[in-house]
Amino acid sequence: MFATLSDRLADTFKNLRGKGRLSEADIDATAREIRIALLEADVALPVVKEFVAAVKDRARGEEVSGALNPAQQIVKIVNEELVTILGGETRRLRYAKSGPTVILLAGLQGAGKTTLAAKLALWLKEQGKAPVLVAADLQRPNAVNQLQINGERAGVPVFAPEPGNGVGDPVAVARASIDEAKRKLYDVVIVDTAGRLGVDAELMQQAADIRDAVQPDEVLFVVDAMIGQDAVTTAQAFLEGVGFDGVVLTKLDGDARGGAALSIRSVTGKPVMFASAGEKLTDFDLFHPDRMAGRILDMGDMLTLIEQAEKTFDHEQALKAAEKLTGKGDFTLDDFLQQMQQVRKLGSMSKIMGMLPGMGQFRDQLENFDEREIDRIQAIIQSMTPAERDDPKIIDGSRRQRIARGSGRTVTDVNQLVDRFFEARKMMMQFAQGGGMPSLPGMPG
Ligand code: GDP
Repeated sequence: MFATLSDRLADTFKNLRGKGRLSEADIDATAREIRIALLEADVALPVVKEFVAAVKDRARGEEVSGALNPAQQIVKIVNEELVTILGGETRRLRYAKSGPTVILLAGLQGAGKTTLAAKLALWLKEQGKAPVLVAADLQRPNAVNQLQINGERAGVPVFAPEPGNGVGDPVAVARASIDEAKRKLYDVVIVDTAGRLGVDAELMQQAADIRDAVQPDEVLFVVDAMIGQDAVTTAQAFLEGVGFDGVVLTKLDGDARGGAALSIRSVTGKPVMFASAGEKLTDFDLFHPDRMAGRILDMGDMLTLIEQAEKTFDHEQALKAAEKLTGKGDFTLDDFLQQMQQVRKLGSMSKIMGMLPGMGQFRDQLENFDEREIDRIQAIIQSMTPAERDDPKIIDGSRRQRIARGSGRTVTDVNQLVDRFFEARKMMMQFAQGGGMPSLPGMPG
């Protein structure tokens, strides 16, 4: 799922790589591309408009981050906005405080309701619950039978009217199932209602009657994600006709675009709670907006890095360093050490390299990077006087000998460090004049 959107967005971000600063034109172009990507994914137009406006607003530099370069910042903004339209926090089931929890399923015929009922039952069973499935779909000749087969596959009991009782009354069956659950100590009752091929008033009324009879803790609207924007229209009709607390998206495995998943929350105001993605009963789980967004961006590692960088990177320090670089250029050995330590805080160098796109130029150097090197550098720098650290140009031959002795390193080590510092400073000045901080400050040369 989300394949087309993923590809589109990846292309958009690729165009931003290597840019030191985003101009108004860059932001406009990016916004345009995101808009097209979302429309192609069949996302509802009002949702697209809102999304693009939010990204544009935020990209216009109100959140200047020292830790991220502009491309990373756009990825971060898009990721956060995706999480928001997908519903923010994962919405978990609410269980009844006493007595059995009642879950009512509603939706069109063919939405995958019966399959879903069994998937949900199995999932609950695996969480240690004792669920029972209730066949309140007495319209379709085969529905009760189908639920029984699915119940058997899941190893979950099914409550159904006696065979041969004719059409029966689904409201009575649903009501009786609650008593049965109390008697047999089932703690979750999953009521499957009748679906029709299209939305109609009678169907809605029946679902509403069952709802009133069983007073469900959760009403879940089950919808086939493959029908795209029609899913959103149907959801609106069910919201008015029956009302629901959450959405279950089925057949996500067959949905390459993701329009329903991306629109339904914003349009209905109700969260997607579960995702069903396959014919197997275990192809089912809670819907996690953050993980979905990560999958759309297809940049799990990149997003982790952005998070870590933000957590680790001290904004104040970054600003100070940037000021020094663009101003008098008095970037000192203390700053150098501090930045190296920040880089180390991010995690092992090779891991970072695996996460960063566009950093291939440094890959060879860093693959051979020995993290103990930072300890050695630290020992040398700490053997210097404050004056030497502030102005490394004064470190002459005799000072180098003293520093080497003090740190237990050789004079060659000290020479290398001082050379490396001047090189790094030169590199950072270039970056700074180019209009932005390098993404990994203090990287050894
Ligand atoms: P109901 O009419 O709403 O009860 O729908 P069913 O549960 O009978 O499902 C209709 C069809 O969709 C069946 O052929 C199911 O096997 C299929 N189906 C249900 N859920 C999924 C899913 O998540 N992925 C795929 N690929 N097929 C599904």
